[in-house]
Amino acid sequence: MTDHPRIPLAGIIGSPVNFSRSPYLHGFWLKRYGIKGHYVHLDIGQADLAEALKMMPRMGFVGANVTIPHKETVLKLADSVTDRAALIGAANTLVFKKDGKVLADNTDGLGFIANLRQNAPHWNPAAGPAAVLGAGGGARAVIAALIEVGVPEIRLANRTRGRAENLRHDFGAKVHVVDWTEAGEMLDGAVTVVNTTSMGMSGKADFTVPLDGISSKAVVTDLVYVPLMTDFLAAAKARGAHTVDGLGMLLHQAVPGFERWFGQKPVVDEETRQAVLLA
Ligand code: NAP
Repeated sequence: MTDHPRIPLAGIIGSPVNFSRSPYLHGFWLKRYGIKGHYVHLDIGQADLAEALKMMPRMGFVGANVTIPHKETVLKLADSVTDRAALIGAANTLVFKKDGKVLADNTDGLGFIANLRQNAPHWNPAAGPAAVLGAGGGARAVIAALIEVGVPEIRLANRTRGRAENLRHDFGAKVHVVDWTEAGEMLDGAVTVVNTTSMGMSGKADFTVPLDGISSKAVVTDLVYVPLMTDFLAAAKARGAHTVDGLGMLLHQAVPGFERWFGQKPVVDEETRQAVLLA
């Protein structure tokens, strides 16, 4: 053992992972707060994941983020799992305790809400129904978060209806499944409208759902953040709705991890956004 404190390490585990912007975000914060530490890309395949999680705390890692394809698998490998990660069925943040035990958490829902609170301060989720497009991993975090902040009803449509029905089963009676062919109609009167599908993301399918039903009073957000102004957000904006892009969710979901690992709650502001956008 040494008396010299180790330089804390963290990183993002995925495969492939070099697309991730998280190292630029955490690197920016480490520099901003003058913290001696490092955050790196960690390309770790499925076969090595369990071993890596055992070794990382011994190597000086204090935690990690997790992305595709490990977000579900890490729940089985962790020593403990937060209630929200268990409910969502996936983790995006790991904390390595001093004894090497691994805690798995999911902060996507926190990031989703914090982004809306920061960029649409008048947003009142309890004032009326939310409409959610998509029923993948992102949707699970969004729905859990919307229920927590008191949304009275969630209208949910997904191309593969069965996946939406599964969410109805897991999240209960507030979730009303709407057929994908009627997704445009469920936007009528929705106070909150969220795209959690990958439609509109650069390199993916175009956005296809008709958006005439979006109210000018709605707060509309997209989980897709490449491009920042998606066709979905542009159409909502053209109807007078208040739009919030998905980059803020990515930034805010990183706050709890950084705070746990490096002991400083980081602030998400315009400079932070620019640091990630320009990276
Ligand atoms: P996922 O689990 O793979 O789910 C993808 C969703 O998109 C499913 O609902 C899928 O429908 C739907 N979809 C894909 N192609 C479609 C098409 N051509 N037409 C209609 N629906 C289509 O992915 P995810 O993890 O939820 O991520 C979804 C998006 O959110 C990605 O772009 C991801 O980058 C983004 N995201 C952003 C953040 C953030 O911090 N901003 C966080 C999480 C995710 P089916 O079920 O029918 O396949």
